[in-house]
Amino acid sequence: MTISVAGAGMAGLVAAARLRELGRHVVVRDKGSRLGGSMLLSSGVVFRHRSFDDFRAECPGGDERLQRLVWERLDDAIEWLVARGAPVVWEETGNPRTVGKRLDPRGLVEALAVEVELGSDGCVDGPLVLCTGGFAASSELVTRFVRPAASLRLRANPWSAGDGLGFALDRGAALSTGLDEFYGRNMPDAAWDETQLVSLSQLYGRFARVYDGDGVEFFARGDVSWSETNVVQATARRPGAKAFYLLDEEALRQTVRERTVAEMVAAAPSEAHVSLPDLPFDPPPGVVAAVRVVASITHTIGGVRIDDRARVLREDGSPVDGLWAAGVDAGGVATGGYASGLAQALVLGLVAAEDAAATG
Ligand SMILES: Cc1cc2nc3c(=O)[nH]c(=O)nc-3n(C[C@H](O)[C@H](O)[C@H](O)COP(=O)(O)OP(=O)(O)OC[C@H]3O[C@@H](n4cnc5c(N)ncnc54)[C@H](O)[C@@H]3O)c2cc1C
Repeated sequence: MTISVAGAGMAGLVAAARLRELGRHVVVRDKGSRLGGSMLLSSGVVFRHRSFDDFRAECPGGDERLQRLVWERLDDAIEWLVARGAPVVWEETGNPRTVGKRLDPRGLVEALAVEVELGSDGCVDGPLVLCTGGFAASSELVTRFVRPAASLRLRANPWSAGDGLGFALDRGAALSTGLDEFYGRNMPDAAWDETQLVSLSQLYGRFARVYDGDGVEFFARGDVSWSETNVVQATARRPGAKAFYLLDEEALRQTVRERTVAEMVAAAPSEAHVSLPDLPFDPPPGVVAAVRVVASITHTIGGVRIDDRARVLREDGSPVDGLWAAGVDAGGVATGGYASGLAQALVLGLVAAEDAAATG
């Protein structure tokens, strides 16, 4: 019997490739106009935390069985990708907390390429693996579940609008934990496009004084997590879902990855730079630069509840017949913190394909 895959981003391409490898006939549909979903826009760093305990500590609200599955299978899964021809850009992540590889997203799409019906809703009856990438692109669903103070800017593909979630809920699926959480970045409050999602990220909250438009310093520098996800989520709850990053000379000299803070500030479009007299409050002494940032969502963290075979579950724990979910559609893995969305998509894509091939 044919198995359908909805979505041709990271999880969908992986699931489809594995299903074909296992000898199953597969039809892949993607609502968008190209392959790759948000994966194509990403930095391509597929990683896990160095130890499982670190993963648990970082994401304490997540489903431990799913976390263990992703953590334990990831290294072999990356080798599977590389064996299929996924080009490795870095052999390591460059982050001492994590283990993995940086892959070239375009080469990854080519290595996994399957025939895809583009511009087509993949949520169809019959055995189906949902890989539609969550609901970041639906401001209605984001407002309902994440409850930001104002609309978030979208820092991702424009097609992941909760179709997989809606389809699964209509068939009795339960929701996961973490529905009010998201992974994203504070971006300049200015115009930008999808080619600038990485280069314009204002990834220096840890060195900034973080104020909202009412002049409230709402996040202490020492509380910013290494991924900065927590300060982005806090920004989403401030007026306008915006913040001001205030910097002194010392902050501007700091480096994050390969760039200085001054370089990241300079990269922000001029509309986002605020001269100190124009701030709506008096800045603290020593501040020499201010950037207005807006909370921007890359992907949701909560979604459809699944088991460790990637089967979609009902509230009573029973599986919905013939329905699997992988990638961001599968919620409750990184609840409470941040983990690699690409890793989750890769491992759950493989797991869903293997279970669907065996039973679907
Ligand atoms: C700028 C940026 C940088 C990132 N960097 C990293 C990184 O370095 N490391 C990391 O781990 N993660 C990173 N991510 C996140 C990562 O890209 C995602 O976690 C990952 O792509 C999720 O895979 P997915 O298959 O669930 O969703 P996606 O890759 O987004 O694919 C979802 C697909 O579903 C399609 N779709 C939606 N609705 C339907 C429908 N009804 N029918 C059919 N198709 C549908 C969409 O068109 C899309 O192609 C980054 C993301 C961005 C945007």
